Amino acid sequence: MFEILSLKRGLVLAGLVLAGCASAPAPTDPESFDRQATLSLTRELSRDFLFGRAPDTEGSRKAQDLIITRMRALGLQPVGDDYRHPFLYGDFVDRETGQDATPNLPGTNLIARLPGRRKDGLTLVITAHYDHLGVRNGEIFNGADDNASGVAGMLAIADYFAANPPRHDMLFVAFDAEEAGFGGARAFMADPPIPASRMTANLNLDMISRGENGGLWASGANHTPAFAPMLAEIAVEAPIALHMGHDGSDPDEEDWTSMSDQVVFYLKKIPHLYLGVEDHPDYHQPSDDFAKIQPDVFIASVETAIMIAAAMDQDLDEIADFRTENCNLSDC
Ligand SMILES: [Zn+2]
Repeated sequence: MFEILSLKRGLVLAGLVLAGCASAPAPTDPESFDRQATLSLTRELSRDFLFGRAPDTEGSRKAQDLIITRMRALGLQPVGDDYRHPFLYGDFVDRETGQDATPNLPGTNLIARLPGRRKDGLTLVITAHYDHLGVRNGEIFNGADDNASGVAGMLAIADYFAANPPRHDMLFVAFDAEEAGFGGARAFMADPPIPASRMTANLNLDMISRGENGGLWASGANHTPAFAPMLAEIAVEAPIALHMGHDGSDPDEEDWTSMSDQVVFYLKKIPHLYLGVEDHPDYHQPSDDFAKIQPDVFIASVETAIMIAAAMDQDLDEIADFRTENCNLSDC
């Protein structure tokens, strides 16, 4: 992996075009982010003293502090007064009585903004959930791959774009309560910090640090076909095997469209890509620890995620046109 990585230094992403896009591609060096900070944040988020980062716990608040410290260090701006956006989640129907119920479980999303060079209102929303399963039967579920890795990867993307300002506005959102049925993502979309009409596309990272089952999957091109040529170009240069699928295109593969927070964007007809690895033996087990992640695979995933984010930013105008057309066909 190191040899492949070193060959790629100074890479220029050429020809990352959606159909009809004539804009010149921007030079991209996806290695320009702080690897040590990325690994160290992943390790810190998956330490026992965070007790599995269940929503509304002391461990969750420690995780929030770690993430916000990094957001601030990267110069990302809060949206509103604070990076923290509290919400309530839960059932609308009481499971025991069948009566109407009010969601009453507290959670906290963390939202940061990086302004783009153009002031055209288009926004790329980059997301990763930071909650995990907490403590069950006395065992701590540290969730290193799921999803400390995605949060650290998301902030590595922010690190890259803080030094290489994007064309378009970016939102970086660490969702809470994903493991409880996308509670944070649903609350985010129900009370969005910017109008949903300005959320042009979503890139969601959930489990990106393990390679036992071969490479990184990008799910979503089946819903937004224009992503397919873009991903095919990136796959040629990416430092990890990048596969397309798990998005309903192949009935023999599990469809991941509704299996992580990207589903709330999908339901709003906002084009999305979800990056993740196949399930592994430690998936949703107390053994999903930092010691099990594969740093070379993880860093290669992060570099690939940066390449994809750069290509999405580059082509966000065309993605916006696609969404507009898609919305004309049905209610958004
Ligand atoms: Zn997850």
